[in-house]
Amino acid sequence: MYKSIIGLEIHIELDTETKMFCECPNNPNEQRPNVHVCPICLGHPGTLPTINRRAVEKVIQLGMALEGAIAKQTHFDRKSYFYPDLPKGYQISQYEHPLVSGGTLEDIDITRVHLEEDTGRLAHDPDGKHSLVDFNRSGVPLAELVTEPNVRDADHAVVFARELQRIVRYAGISQADMEKGQMRIEANVSVSSDERLGTKVEVKNINSFRSVHDAIEYEIKRQEKLLRSGGQVVQETRGWVDGERITKSQRIKESAHDYRYFPEPDLPPLDLTQLDLNQLKLALPELPAEKRVRLKREYALDTQAVALLVDDRLASEYFEEAASELALLMKKPNYTKLHIGLVGDFRGAMREHSIAFSDVPVTPEHFAHFIALIENGTLSSALAKRVLTEMFKSGEDPETIMREHTLTIIDDASALQKLAEAVVGEYEKAVADYRSGKDEVLAFLVGQIMARTKGQADPKRAREALLIVLKQ
Ligand SMILES: [Zn+2]
Repeated sequence: MYKSIIGLEIHIELDTETKMFCECPNNPNEQRPNVHVCPICLGHPGTLPTINRRAVEKVIQLGMALEGAIAKQTHFDRKSYFYPDLPKGYQISQYEHPLVSGGTLEDIDITRVHLEEDTGRLAHDPDGKHSLVDFNRSGVPLAELVTEPNVRDADHAVVFARELQRIVRYAGISQADMEKGQMRIEANVSVSSDERLGTKVEVKNINSFRSVHDAIEYEIKRQEKLLRSGGQVVQETRGWVDGERITKSQRIKESAHDYRYFPEPDLPPLDLTQLDLNQLKLALPELPAEKRVRLKREYALDTQAVALLVDDRLASEYFEEAASELALLMKKPNYTKLHIGLVGDFRGAMREHSIAFSDVPVTPEHFAHFIALIENGTLSSALAKRVLTEMFKSGEDPETIMREHTLTIIDDASALQKLAEAVVGEYEKAVADYRSGKDEVLAFLVGQIMARTKGQADPKRAREALLIVLKQ
């Protein structure tokens, strides 16, 4: 029986106006290389860094959200190593005194969260001879979060990482887009067959939640297989190869790196007792975990519905605005129906137009009105789909759209009777089947009336009209 031990190291680029130690813009969407650079973030000799207060505050807020302890005094350290994307030859980081110690999320203990600066980015020319370096990212504020090795398995790691992403997004700490490298996850995995600790392998280059899961799973299996065949796991860094769904050795760790940490002489120590921590705590919004509990209670939604809403902060805000409108329109508002409407055709229309909640042309008021019209029977489901399509096109109120496009329900008895007669006249075989006892044919005939009216017939009334005609 093998036991695996998993810990995570997560880097999160902070969403600040400027970089960590200079006034260059922090713009993760910049496409042109080396435009947001200055002597400080290019590491020119003789330059002096200054600390970005917002970056410090954001890491403190992250610590508060994770219930960690905020340091009273701290300082930055130099971590020396050589790499082409690191112009100073050292990175300003935090070693012994991180901003945040401890904390917990999804049953995983957090060791620490510290603040450091990001490196530049290398692009390797396909000719294999040249590498290019872009320093736009050099000096971007970066939070590094390290967990204790009490991650149960690959699924648990994903649950943790997803919730962490939601928290930093809710709190405006980071956009945490994994594809853009704004959230980078490394997993430390070791496997052993007895009580002793196994040899730790570090897995890097993980850039999606699916890869977090698959990389950990793969690494556990690889190490188990190796041990079972009498082999030994070597301490190394391995890279996840997305295309092949495997990890590959990047470098063997023969001894611990000597980063020669020492306190950064160009920066003053930080006295955090001078910050208004209470104010920072108050500035934190309602976080996903609290929101789930409240939405469930206030709107009587089930766990899955709540989870879907809370996944996207804007979706949950939209829902709540629409819900308060619905409460004005209906005596007994059905919030489950509102939710179903939102995750069903509404999401479909969003996907079709490839827009996010921030760009939806349908206001929450109009959407609540739309749901109320369905609930009180003014809109059939077939008609609703067309009205919603128009709402996404024009952003108009559903009733205006129904008027303009004459999309009203046909429930006029004589009109429906004529339609029923026409259908019964046309489908002789189906009618004969119905009369010989095949009741299910009725649904088919109702469907024909719905098709002829492009969904505008009231299906219940259409059915009644058919039954009358069939009895004649
Ligand atoms: Zn700069």
